Amino acid sequence: MFEFYRHCSEDVEPPNWDVLLCPGCKQCYGRAKGKNARCTRCGRTADIHITVVGHANSPQELQRAISIANMPEQLRADFASKLPPLEEPNAKDLRDPIMAVNILRESVGDNGLVTFDNLATACFNANISLTPTEVIDWAEAEGFILRKSDNSWVVLE
Ligand SMILES: [Zn+2]
Repeated sequence: MFEFYRHCSEDVEPPNWDVLLCPGCKQCYGRAKGKNARCTRCGRTADIHITVVGHANSPQELQRAISIANMPEQLRADFASKLPPLEEPNAKDLRDPIMAVNILRESVGDNGLVTFDNLATACFNANISLTPTEVIDWAEAEGFILRKSDNSWVVLE
């Protein structure tokens, strides 16, 4: 049972960071899961009694969590509400042509053609930051698709 749990947590979970509160100087700092850490201000080692005040799944998120945690409480809510959204880690664009071609293939309907609506759905499902028009313009220019009508394209192999 333990082995199973460990296997899952290593393979499925993304790398995690904790935001720790130093009991000595009350400064918050980050620690990678399973690693030792020391306070970046006073050097006190984080032991098992350390207070974990937050978690993060990316270095950017960690940086942000630490700066918010180190802020005077009355400023925190205001600051957090003004932050731009974090960059979507899964967002992919046409710098990954395989991704774009896969999206086009997924957009092929029963009639064997890509339509604008199918492509819009596939773009949304793939969580890319491009509009269907951008994908079409790119794929036509690259010769991946051929326009059949105003709203249908053939995917070329
Ligand atoms: Zn400290």
